[in-house]
Amino acid sequence: MRLRVTSLRALKYYACMHNYVFPATYAPWLASRLPLSLKEHKATCQSCLMARPVATRPGATRDPGVFSESLKCCTYFPYIPNFSLGAFAENDFAKAASAGILLPVGLYPSVAYQERKAKAVRSSFGQQADLLCPFFNQNQNSCGIWSLRPGVCTSYFCQSDRGAEGLKLWSEIEDYLNQFEWTLAKRVFEDLGFSENELAFGRAAISLETEQDERQFFIEAAWGTHLGKENEFYKRARAMALSYTAQQLESILGSPLIESEEFIRQKITDFSA
Ligand code: SF4
Ligand code: SF4
Repeated sequence: MRLRVTSLRALKYYACMHNYVFPATYAPWLASRLPLSLKEHKATCQSCLMARPVATRPGATRDPGVFSESLKCCTYFPYIPNFSLGAFAENDFAKAASAGILLPVGLYPSVAYQERKAKAVRSSFGQQADLLCPFFNQNQNSCGIWSLRPGVCTSYFCQSDRGAEGLKLWSEIEDYLNQFEWTLAKRVFEDLGFSENELAFGRAAISLETEQDERQFFIEAAWGTHLGKENEFYKRARAMALSYTAQQLESILGSPLIESEEFIRQKITDFSA
């Protein structure tokens, strides 16, 4: 979803990426594991399908809609793993730092965003402007970090060519990508010297239960000696994630994720039959 096409080059890129399950920057890890191409034609992101009246889009939809054309399905603040943050352009990194909470495992929504989200009702998805993702480019009406968008965004299709079964498969792919991101981000975190202690400090830093005057303490404790050098750390995290061999990656992912990959491959084969 979520790309406005303004040139022939962009159109070709869009056509290519729209068939591919993963963001381009995930290719080093996933292109050989899940070389999937799954065409979806109904989610017409340039002119958002969900911004149209319900009667004009029959069939199963993932969310009820109607969405705002200028918000689409981006009223969401996704978790961004550390190894993706290491590839962010400077201006996008500045947005991440000001809009969310940076931790060694990745980026999380600010407490203010979490509080707004907690109060929102499900039917406000796609409609509530103060929940718009900080990476949405309002001038272009599209995602501003398209090639680095995380799994939750990659796998969001409001409608599928394969109806409810197709939406179910995208939900499986979303679960897989969420686990893939977390597993790889956590391994990098550990290999760069962090432990369960810093993980626990990080959890406290993003928790709504934490007192406001204690939050900064937990953020600083989560970063330890890396505090103030977050961008540098994320670049090292990306380099570390890219350094794993195929065999190491297989062992990092472990059986549950490998089984999920097999399930997804089989489902796509069934759809193609
Ligand atoms: S709601 Fe559907 S059509 Fe609209 S941007 Fe999202 S995926 Fe694309
Ligand atoms: S990262 Fe991009 S696709 Fe995902 S919610 Fe933000 S703007 Fe939308």
